[in-house]
Amino acid sequence: MSATERENEIRTDVLILGGGPSGISCALECADSGLDHLLLERSQKFGGQLDEIPGPIPNLPAGNFHASGKDLSYAMLEHALSFGCRLEADVDILEADLENLSLRSKNTVYRSRALYIAAGARYREPTFENQARFKEYIHHRHYVENRHFEGRDLIIVGGGDSAFFAALAKANLAKSVTIIHRSSNFKTREDIRKLVQSDPRIEIMPNYEIISLTGEKRLEAVILKSTTSSEEHRRKADVVYAKLGYVPNSELFCNQLEMTASGHIKTDERLRTSKAGVFAGGDIVSPGYDRISVALGHGSLAVKFIRQCLSRNQA
Ligand SMILES: Cc1cc2nc3c(=O)[nH]c(=O)nc-3n(C[C@H](O)[C@H](O)[C@H](O)COP(=O)(O)OP(=O)(O)OC[C@H]3O[C@@H](n4cnc5c(N)ncnc54)[C@H](O)[C@@H]3O)c2cc1C
Repeated sequence: MSATERENEIRTDVLILGGGPSGISCALECADSGLDHLLLERSQKFGGQLDEIPGPIPNLPAGNFHASGKDLSYAMLEHALSFGCRLEADVDILEADLENLSLRSKNTVYRSRALYIAAGARYREPTFENQARFKEYIHHRHYVENRHFEGRDLIIVGGGDSAFFAALAKANLAKSVTIIHRSSNFKTREDIRKLVQSDPRIEIMPNYEIISLTGEKRLEAVILKSTTSSEEHRRKADVVYAKLGYVPNSELFCNQLEMTASGHIKTDERLRTSKAGVFAGGDIVSPGYDRISVALGHGSLAVKFIRQCLSRNQA
């Protein structure tokens, strides 16, 4: 380790990676039980994916809470600060050494006695041929201004709830809506699937994938290839909306922790990972169960087991 790195060494009992709901909930529980802790967040704001939730959160058991995800994250942050939580924003963790329970940013090494990984998930970005050329006509985030879809031939890619919700939401705006999915197995809620299937404004094309994008000055069409035959098909398109789900932010740990095939960190019922002293919770461990309530619950529960782990190590 160089002299400069030694100067920037920070020690704490519990390091928390990620300032979304799960990390904040863990920090709150640490503060409440008098545990020395530090939460690190790469963004300049706290709240993680809450920032992307534009409207009321229907499934949050928080009474009459009609605010947006942003409002919820402000409320959580304010509460955490009033509780004396130690939170640091704008710290991008670039390396993890789980054997030694340490995390490293550009200038600082953080060492701890226990680590809670709550690094969450992000949108899966599409990778189409010619994507760079047509990037202004390809969207994948949740919030996209309506003007990008108004009066356009819209191709939605994906076979899950978010693709089907997007189709329903854009059907009134777009000139045409087509859902393209690489298989005929749609992972959608049945009620939403029925709504889409019975909507004359929406066409569904199962067993196709986009192999390239084409156009002179702007996007004019997508080239589709059947996934069950060699058939190719050109379809008019002004805009592509890729709703391909989420991927866990677990790359830092891939050679150090046991993971599922989807890249989620494996934990036991005590939120312990395969490495001693390392716990994980929230979206990074929850394939297909990405919920604020789950993330909050994990963050809080982890502290119970972290405390047990710390007191065992002290004995
Ligand atoms: C559009 C949208 C709508 C949603 N609607 C709902 C809803 O209605 N109800 C519901 O229950 N859930 C909803 N969710 C899901 C919910 O937001 C997530 O389940 C929840 O935010 C997960 O919390 P988390 O703390 O596990 O992870 P995240 O919220 O993903 O937070 C993880 C944090 O870790 C940080 N991080 C990652 N890597 C690093 C690193 N190397 N260094 C430093 N920091 C790092 C990230 O910047 C991020 O801030 C929605 C999500 C989206 C995107």
